[in-house]
Amino acid sequence: MIHELPVRPRPLPHESIEGYLLRIVARNGWQQSGQLLKHVGLPAKYYVDSPDKLIKLCEKLAPFVRIVPEGLIAHFSDQLSHKWLYDEKRALQDLRVRFPRLCPLCVNQTGFHWHWSLATVSHCEAHNHELWDHCPECDEPFGWNAELFFGCPNCDYSWEAESAPDLPAHQQQFRRLLANSIGLQDFIHDLTLALRAISRPYDSIHDNRGYWPTSQRRLSESITAAYELLTEPEALKGWLSHCAYARSDLMPLGTEVVLSPISTFTNKLRGQWPIQKTVVNNNVTVPSSAITASHVDGWIRPSRLRLTRDDFELRFQANAREVQHALGLPKGSIIILIESGAVEPIHQSRIPRDQFFDLRDLEAVIAAIPEVNQLPENHIRLVNNDKILKQHRIKYIDVLAGVFSGSIPAFRPAGSRNLSCIFVDIDDLLLFLLKCQPRCRISGKMVKSTKYYSEEEIAAFKRFLDQRV
Ligand SMILES: [Zn+2]
Ligand SMILES: [Zn+2]
Repeated sequence: MIHELPVRPRPLPHESIEGYLLRIVARNGWQQSGQLLKHVGLPAKYYVDSPDKLIKLCEKLAPFVRIVPEGLIAHFSDQLSHKWLYDEKRALQDLRVRFPRLCPLCVNQTGFHWHWSLATVSHCEAHNHELWDHCPECDEPFGWNAELFFGCPNCDYSWEAESAPDLPAHQQQFRRLLANSIGLQDFIHDLTLALRAISRPYDSIHDNRGYWPTSQRRLSESITAAYELLTEPEALKGWLSHCAYARSDLMPLGTEVVLSPISTFTNKLRGQWPIQKTVVNNNVTVPSSAITASHVDGWIRPSRLRLTRDDFELRFQANAREVQHALGLPKGSIIILIESGAVEPIHQSRIPRDQFFDLRDLEAVIAAIPEVNQLPENHIRLVNNDKILKQHRIKYIDVLAGVFSGSIPAFRPAGSRNLSCIFVDIDDLLLFLLKCQPRCRISGKMVKSTKYYSEEEIAAFKRFLDQRV
């Protein structure tokens, strides 16, 4: 038999479902939301992130508060109906955070506004007050505790308002976009991308995160900083110089590789932001220290964290795509580089998505090919999509594999910081091509190539063929 609760408050306008649960808890003398959830027959950690879960909660809760389930569902379902709340392709897929955030000026009168759970909202719109997710006095992160309506459950500090100036620009923009919804999705996309950049500023590998990590507080400050990153070229320049410092071990691979976290970020932005005009160039002033980013939990996939706990190591990890890019090689090169023993993944996996590498290893890979100041005699310059290779249906990466396995000696231009161009001996190359394509003959195709290679090179090819074919 279900006993109605002694005090049965009605949901307030704009109140979040979690806030409503906590208010019932507070009015009935409990401490934690989990106690109420267990009382109505749900797990203590039950989070409503889908309409199905809302219906289940309302059906369980309704008899205890003497409200028909449909009434409760109707009250809260609007909050779950917005398409922009969840987007699988976003840096932060679910915009709703799982911990309480509050405005100390109104939480006790109007309850927890459902906007306060959004990772794009940093201030109470009624009071322009920053939302707190931890105690300003003792720093303790908030859990769903009934005392939060008045003060800190940890140190008993009673809520006192801090002076609140105007609503910050990002909050005003979010409010405007909510009202007419054009551009809202792009705004959220870019702001969550910046939130991730703030949390992990030196990483090359990023996964989309399900929701804002519960261990990472001061979300309102992060939102403000993220918006600054999007709108203030000075903030981006600061990130640039700190990134140059934090990733300076990669300098031998060139500035583009060192600063790739920034270019990856700016390339992914959907909206038009002032920072897109900021030129990312070589003239980076390196500061004396890096910004420390220690938000590891929640942002790094557990499979990677198991292998690398050290935050310093994480910043040099890259996926196959970035390794190829850093080496100046086309898509699909990585498999051949691994097979030839030139590159070794930190984590060997059959799923390419799970394979990752240490960018610092690439310096040695490039240095394995000696530098020369100019093209040596009887050598040709080879690049990806080279005509001679196309004619023989051989890929540039196959030649490089030959170089790494020791069957073709090669050089690279002095000062080059990747493998996009090598110099190889014509005879060695032809021997290699013939080995790869045993039925290859000098033919009409060879005539075409005269437009591309000098007479001496062609003569060398022919001499070679005469001897061997
Ligand atoms: Zn308020
Ligand atoms: Zn406290």
